[in-house]
Amino acid sequence: MRTVTVVGAGLAGCEAAWQLVQRGIPVRLVEMKPLKKSPAHQMDSFAELVCSNSLRSDRLQNAVGLLKEEMRVLGSLIMEAAEHARVPAGGALAVDRQAFSGFITEKLKSHPLITVVEEEVTEIPESPVIIATGPLTSDALSEAVARLPGISTLNFYDAAAPIVTRESLDMNKVFRQSRYDRGDDYLNCPMDREEYERFVQELVNAETAPIHGFEEKHVFEGCMPVESMAKRGMQTLAFGPLKAAGLKDPRTGKMPYAVVQLRQDDAANTLVNLVGFQTRLKFPEQKRVFGMIPGLENAEFVRYGVMHRNTFLNSPGFLNERFEMLERPMTYFAGQMTGVEGYVESAGSGLVAGLSLAMQLLEKDIVTFPRTTALGALSHYVAAANRNFQPMNVTFGLMESAPEGIRKKDQRQEYIVNRALETVKEIKMSIG
Ligand SMILES: Cc1cc2nc3c(=O)[nH]c(=O)nc-3n(C[C@H](O)[C@H](O)[C@H](O)COP(=O)(O)OP(=O)(O)OC[C@H]3O[C@@H](n4cnc5c(N)ncnc54)[C@H](O)[C@@H]3O)c2cc1C
Repeated sequence: MRTVTVVGAGLAGCEAAWQLVQRGIPVRLVEMKPLKKSPAHQMDSFAELVCSNSLRSDRLQNAVGLLKEEMRVLGSLIMEAAEHARVPAGGALAVDRQAFSGFITEKLKSHPLITVVEEEVTEIPESPVIIATGPLTSDALSEAVARLPGISTLNFYDAAAPIVTRESLDMNKVFRQSRYDRGDDYLNCPMDREEYERFVQELVNAETAPIHGFEEKHVFEGCMPVESMAKRGMQTLAFGPLKAAGLKDPRTGKMPYAVVQLRQDDAANTLVNLVGFQTRLKFPEQKRVFGMIPGLENAEFVRYGVMHRNTFLNSPGFLNERFEMLERPMTYFAGQMTGVEGYVESAGSGLVAGLSLAMQLLEKDIVTFPRTTALGALSHYVAAANRNFQPMNVTFGLMESAPEGIRKKDQRQEYIVNRALETVKEIKMSIG
């Protein structure tokens, strides 16, 4: 059996490697960490979550919840690890990032069919290969990718939020509660109107770190820096990530004017991240301005927010709906670099790429996930003609809609979810 080279042991690469070895195909997994790290990666282990520790909603009423369920049906390693490392986060699936990454690293490193190679890849390896080096692919490999036939690349900017220690919070001000009484997994820093307006004023005037070639219009909306969002208007944050709707401060019995929410970041519950606070403020400015948030006056930062330029492929016309290069059989790409957006979507594309290449090598019928599934919706998005191709989260809007006859929104959604899961289960039965 031919050995597959998987380049990059991130979310996509790890899932792709797992799908291959589950089908008896040997994998050479090449990862440049710990020898070399991108500006956003800090850990030595695989499948590092570079920013938030949340894999977003776990509810089937949400497309990313459905995507996760489809991946579970298909034996996803990333989903197994998330379950293992789960920390409380209301309806979301959040994880202890160390436990999550540790679980995946151990599973892959101890697998008899996987050889791990620690080196930076600088040229496109011979096929069969899956390149999953992420939005911060090293420069040398980016240049090699740019020389491939039929390729063009695009850029956008992405930012990470700070993490602070839990013990440094002032719990006389912070209260524990989730919105609309859905548990008590979040910590809330309440602000009155005066505190909020003073905070926004300082935030919009704070000094930001210079980033070469940075243009605000190239920021991905879902990861907009908090200071950029604040510049849109005094009330933008109060109606966005700082909205207080569904929360009541137990000390006043009233809804605060605004709240900054903090989410548990590790299983030991010693760290929390500032939800929605991805930023490119200079580090001393983060300490000063975020220190104005009630409860965070003496916050100890274990990681400051950072912003990076991301590169992705202009995949339509370059990849097919299995993430395989149109002009070079058995050369696959996977993950954020293909134009899917988000941890789960990246892992999902790795799953599709790994599974598809496995079928090819085993000379079995090739599986193309239909658009009635969340996995298929993403793969088709990446491959379909699109003159304004942009990174995309999974949404129900990308999926084939429910029949016209079903009119109510919740019934339409239920239909889409059931149809998707039935299809994925059938695919699983057919491929083993
Ligand atoms: C700063 C930042 C913040 C983000 N925040 C979020 C978030 O909060 N939530 C969310 O859902 N998504 C977020 N994303 C988007 C996306 O989900 C992540 O980038 C995700 O990790 C992508 O998975 P991936 O497998 O494609 O790449 P990665 O997880 O980045 O994995 C790529 C791997 O390839 C390795 N590598 C790179 N070049 C080479 C080379 N030449 N040779 C060998 N190995 C190489 C890297 O070291 C890395 O381990 C963020 C992205 C960035 C950059």
